[in-house]
Amino acid sequence: MQELLREDLRGRTPYGAPQLDVPVALNTNENSYAVPPAVVDDIVAAVAAVASGLNRYPDREFTDLRGDLAAYLSRSGTTVGREQVWAGNGSNEVLLHLLQAFGGQGRTALGFTPAYSMHPIIAATTGTTWVDGMRGVPGGGAFDLSVESTVAQVEQADPHLVFLCSPNNPTGTALPLEIVGAVLEAAPRAVVVVDEAYAEFARPGTPSALTLLDGRPRLVVTRTMSKAFAFAGGRLGYLAADPELVDALRLVRMPYHLSTPTQAIARAALGHADTMLGTVDVVKAQRDRIVDTLAGLGLDPVPSDANFVLFGGLRDSHTTWQALLDEGVLVRDVGIAHYLRVTAGTPEEVTAFLDAVAALGPDHL
Ligand code: PMP
Repeated sequence: MQELLREDLRGRTPYGAPQLDVPVALNTNENSYAVPPAVVDDIVAAVAAVASGLNRYPDREFTDLRGDLAAYLSRSGTTVGREQVWAGNGSNEVLLHLLQAFGGQGRTALGFTPAYSMHPIIAATTGTTWVDGMRGVPGGGAFDLSVESTVAQVEQADPHLVFLCSPNNPTGTALPLEIVGAVLEAAPRAVVVVDEAYAEFARPGTPSALTLLDGRPRLVVTRTMSKAFAFAGGRLGYLAADPELVDALRLVRMPYHLSTPTQAIARAALGHADTMLGTVDVVKAQRDRIVDTLAGLGLDPVPSDANFVLFGGLRDSHTTWQALLDEGVLVRDVGIAHYLRVTAGTPEEVTAFLDAVAALGPDHL
């Protein structure tokens, strides 16, 4: 089969976070809390209301959903109009649309590693050349970005797309907005994508790139309902950008890509935004507890604005990953030597994780 495959895809590995049936699953940055019963009732009612119309295609423009997403984003204080919003089956699909429209053969996308592993994978599927930029600030954090180093790498690559991730997965830290502005200036022909999948978990004083959208037609901010909104199974991601940029995405999307039930259940969930976001503070408290406790155990956790923590100080990531799994705790080996990533779950899940770490023998540290 390899010989039939596109040359540039041969030998590549698919995205593969393990989906294992374990007591404590803290490996994909989901929200551990179930959808509350009142929202479940409205979701079921919303599906019932559209079921008889499933003989027809959905609203191709998902107009009402876009309006609801715009209203949700506008709650942050930055007014976002419906015509500025685009959505897909998870923000992964929205990222795909961006790469299909603005990347492709002969074009280049730049990201700063380590960041979200799907950025280069989606780039590859669209034939876009991926350039791996580097993180690290002399005298600062190993995973931080400075304006100087970011701008120098952007100028060198002269890309068609730049991917910034804030808060960054897997490192957890949010990006100073001055970097976004500097990248837009340094890459005059690039669409600059700020992946804000974890924005709702950011610590106070971490403004969203949404605040920069006005007057910057090449800036895109992507979001998702999968994380803070506790709706990963609903598969709804979205972006905010200039209406003209949004318009271009119609050229690459499949007709009717958001099914009628998807639109209905997402709208039902958005109608309960406060309830759906009700666990964010609990999750943030567990995240901070993870950072504090791991530091106390002599490990090296990275301060986080997200719902997960990257922690270092391990002798061998994979050995520790397996030892935790043997205790029923699934975390993520993100491929950074001496580091693992753990999602902040319920207090009980986090206790199970921290207990398992505390019980690790000295050969792990
Ligand atoms: N961006 C980032 C940074 C992520 O971590 C993820 C999920 N892990 C996504 C985008 C995609 O999420 P979804 O497709 O569920 O919206």
